Amino acid sequence: MNNNPLLIEHGCVDFSLLKAEHVVPAVEKTIQDCTQIMEKITATENHNYETLVAQLDIMSLKIDRLWSPVTMLNFLANSPEIRTAYNEGRQLLTQFETVLRSNSMIYNHLENFSKDSLNTEQQTVLENYTRDFRLHGASLQDSAKERYKEIVLELSNLQSTFGENVLDSTASFQLLVKDENELAGLPQSIKASLKEEAQKSGQEGYLCTLQMPVVNAILKYVDDENIRKQIYMAHSKRALEEGRDNRPLIKEILTLRKELASLLGFETYAHLSLAKKTAESPEEVLEFLYSLEEKTSEPAKKEFAELSEFKKQTTGGELHHWDYSYYLEKLRKQQLDFSEEDLRPYFSIDSVLKGLFEIVEKIYEVEVKEVEAPQCWSSEVRYFRAHSDGEMLGEFFLDYHPRKNKRGGAWMQDVVGRSRNENGYEKPIGLIGGNATRATEDTPALLDHREVVTLFHEFGHMSQFLFTKCNEYSVAGINGVPWDVVELPSQFLENWAWNKDALKMFAHHYETGEEIPDDLCDKLIASRNFHRATQIRRQLEFGLMDMHLHYDYDGKPLFEFSEEIHNKMSFFPLLPDTLFLAAFNHIFAGGYSAGYFSYKWAEVWEADAFELFREKGIFNREIGRSFRQNILEKGGSENPFVLYERFRGRRPQQDALLKKYGIAN
Ligand SMILES: [Zn+2]
Repeated sequence: MNNNPLLIEHGCVDFSLLKAEHVVPAVEKTIQDCTQIMEKITATENHNYETLVAQLDIMSLKIDRLWSPVTMLNFLANSPEIRTAYNEGRQLLTQFETVLRSNSMIYNHLENFSKDSLNTEQQTVLENYTRDFRLHGASLQDSAKERYKEIVLELSNLQSTFGENVLDSTASFQLLVKDENELAGLPQSIKASLKEEAQKSGQEGYLCTLQMPVVNAILKYVDDENIRKQIYMAHSKRALEEGRDNRPLIKEILTLRKELASLLGFETYAHLSLAKKTAESPEEVLEFLYSLEEKTSEPAKKEFAELSEFKKQTTGGELHHWDYSYYLEKLRKQQLDFSEEDLRPYFSIDSVLKGLFEIVEKIYEVEVKEVEAPQCWSSEVRYFRAHSDGEMLGEFFLDYHPRKNKRGGAWMQDVVGRSRNENGYEKPIGLIGGNATRATEDTPALLDHREVVTLFHEFGHMSQFLFTKCNEYSVAGINGVPWDVVELPSQFLENWAWNKDALKMFAHHYETGEEIPDDLCDKLIASRNFHRATQIRRQLEFGLMDMHLHYDYDGKPLFEFSEEIHNKMSFFPLLPDTLFLAAFNHIFAGGYSAGYFSYKWAEVWEADAFELFREKGIFNREIGRSFRQNILEKGGSENPFVLYERFRGRRPQQDALLKKYGIAN
């Protein structure tokens, strides 16, 4: 056990030594240690902060310190052995967390603990734990506690069946196109992959499926309206067929969630969900969404009229549901003719990183430098260190290109967060993972603009993680930040990747060193606003459905319910026998229930914050320092509204979002 690389008290795990066989023994040992701490808490009568709340933080730190490296290995260097160990370890930890969080004795200690002698940060930690124990049923007695456990289990089963139905229904549809001409308009690379799909299943032709990239490409590019229509309709009817019908599941899930909420003392499930968010009430969220609805209504009407007219002028006829993406792409090409490929030469990964760190230096006064990477899971991993005012803030890994056995997407995560130790503080160490285009034999890694924005986004999370000055582990860095503002620092930093002055600083041709041309830069920036109001309203529609279902849904048929909201939000009427809700995984199989609004919520915050930079200069140090000190350094240690008001002098205002996208002036 002594030489298990996962069982360390300080610094970073030595990834070059870490193997699957270390996982389960380390989890077992950590659970043993935590159980002892738990028993000590329950055996103690009179608690102070250190004997009660700080002990809970110590357990969280022990578990995270062990488990973050394991999730990293699972994400970055997956193997059958790692996966098995990961699943086994996760199960053990979930069991332990359930036992811990439902412990009534600890809950009672927390409930009765006086806040009086605590500083602000400690008060937040105490409130968070008290709330989390309550949400895990720790306040319930006997039969209520039993019922709580039953509901949680039933919900978890229903939600996974819901997700499986969507998956199976999606996979059950195939459209074999024999004649290549019917797919005219589709880019060659996508056609090739559809052909490959057909060959794999022993057929000849092109196999169109309902996988998202395929659906998007067909709706956007295929000239043949009939093909687009078939795909659109099949996609809109998923999980409604017999044997995979999600409608009864939706009703059951909603009923159980309602019961769960009332068991825990909440008026509705929406209230329960908001207990961990900055939004204070469902009414506030609805007002937020409806107010944005109103403000985007006219611009969206104009966008629809423009697109309808465009179709009339080009091919004639009325604009249908399955025409939307297709004509939008054609119109975009007409108005803003550039291709992503034109941009790549200006975005070599090294010039993007250099630009990103220059911007960070300018606004946050933090210097980020590359240093030699420790030996780890792959030789292409890079390593960076952040300094400010002579103080080392922390370090992070960058693993940014796709590999076999690596998960998709881009993300930021902790290796170990800032925490107290006997000499002061442990420095935070994090990771940015990604799958950006890699170098070829002839060129360095040239990113497309979406990949550039993503890198800025992930470093935004990293800035909150590295810059933290909090003393208590569970609110330092990205810990304890309410869920609906987690995306504030990340989406905020994206703005610089869309700003001309910033782009001119680093978007330089990898061969000639020439700056990105004005014309191309302008078109790129304009593309961000192109038909934005319609896109915003689509998200508002999902947010409204989600919130109403969990707040004041009266049990009417789901189609009728959807139609009422949809027809207010869209110029396309809801088509009979379709139901988006039946495939709405986010809220029925994922973690977004009564939380979908968060996308727009956080966006308003970041747009409002960035607006101050637009007014006073996008490299304004004073405002940068204020954002860093009032928001980034404070992590989850205080109410985000309070933190934000210190930065901005008031709460965030919606109009900033509309201005950002050129919808309002
Ligand atoms: Zn993010």
